[in-house]
Amino acid sequence: MGKIIQMKLLVILILNIAWLVACQGNQQHEHSHKTDDSKKILGKDYVCDMNVTDSTYKAEYEGKTYYFCAEVCKEEFMKEPQKYLSKN
Ligand SMILES: [Zn+2]
Repeated sequence: MGKIIQMKLLVILILNIAWLVACQGNQQHEHSHKTDDSKKILGKDYVCDMNVTDSTYKAEYEGKTYYFCAEVCKEEFMKEPQKYLSKN
């Protein structure tokens, strides 16, 4: 009897470890997937200082392309580009 109970405990333990490993593996995969695909930084939003990862809002100024997180930031920048560029 004692041996069977030990075997059962061992099986449960192995299953738990396998589940934990599988779970951590998934999390790591999701994490790296996110950083690979959606975190390509195109440039810095000079108005609010955040990194811009999509090219929806961009503006050309003195031959350079600037990216913004929102239309508001783009408009704000285009009003006084020098003000925001000299900040850095
Ligand atoms: Zn912004």
